[in-house]
Amino acid sequence: MAAQKLSVDKALAREERVRRLAWPILLKNADLCPKTQPALGWRVGNADTIESLARGLKPKHIEALGWTEEPQILSIAPKSPAEEAGLKPGDRVIGIDGTSVDDMAKLGEAIAKRLDNVEPEETIMVNVQRDGEELAFEVAPQRACAVRVVSSSSGAINATARFKTLTVYAGLVRALPEDNDLSFVIAHELAHIAGQHPRKVTRNSAASGAVIWGPPLMALATAADWLTSYPADKLGAKTPPFTTASTRAIASTVKSVDFEREADYVGLYMLVRAGGHMEGLDNVFQVFANVSPRTTWLKVTHPMVPERLVHLEQAVAEIEAKQSNGEPLVPEGWAVHDHETAPETE
Ligand SMILES: [Zn+2]
Repeated sequence: MAAQKLSVDKALAREERVRRLAWPILLKNADLCPKTQPALGWRVGNADTIESLARGLKPKHIEALGWTEEPQILSIAPKSPAEEAGLKPGDRVIGIDGTSVDDMAKLGEAIAKRLDNVEPEETIMVNVQRDGEELAFEVAPQRACAVRVVSSSSGAINATARFKTLTVYAGLVRALPEDNDLSFVIAHELAHIAGQHPRKVTRNSAASGAVIWGPPLMALATAADWLTSYPADKLGAKTPPFTTASTRAIASTVKSVDFEREADYVGLYMLVRAGGHMEGLDNVFQVFANVSPRTTWLKVTHPMVPERLVHLEQAVAEIEAKQSNGEPLVPEGWAVHDHETAPETE
């Protein structure tokens, strides 16, 4: 079981790192996100979650390591409401405000229902089991961007933004050992979501009327910029065949180059607003350049590295100027939302 335990521990460490880096980005950029939600800064999962996070483990191994259908806290971001309340990874979540939850579906429902109606300053009660003891913690949710951040077991050096879900691949977590570099990619993906790029891209390609070949469509729908090693199982490890439809799809995606530029630019702001720094970020582009397959559609949909670096330098200069003038760090052309006074529906 040692190998299986190591594999689960590694998956949980990746999950913890992604949660730790994503939390301040989602929190400090709430005013740039069109939609926000009260958040706790944790991730809860069960045996199924572990199966998806740690690739190749059989359910019986996961069960033997103590994972069941019951929800358990997988990760908690530092300084998040969950941490400040005293919750810990490993706690079994058994109730929300006294309503008992014994599986993920019930927990999801109870939390969504509760968070939807939470007033500012209001707390919710989380009932857990720790070392056989039942405990209750009062958690004060904080308003953060309404984005679900998940880590994936895939070895691809990639991250994607699809509607309200931001996925960080295991391959990327390994390829970027510097936290600040990984934070930049997370911020870049959040900028796609905040700019509603996935929606716009899908609309664009639908408007072209083309029957679009699978992978390019997926790439568009996910705004899969960092798509440097597209999962080989999906591509069949071959260069995509170029049909008329896929060529048309590519033509309709020239726009996605603009989205990439905007996500690099806004992502840099989001990184700095979340406490990150702007040094050495060219390293991130180099990592992607080195592993990038030379497929045509990738070249068309993704600005090349030198161009991205030039724009990055310009954005760094712009942010530094605003910092030294004491101006608020708001990307040019972007509006700041006041989520405190404007109640949201969703
Ligand atoms: Zn992008």
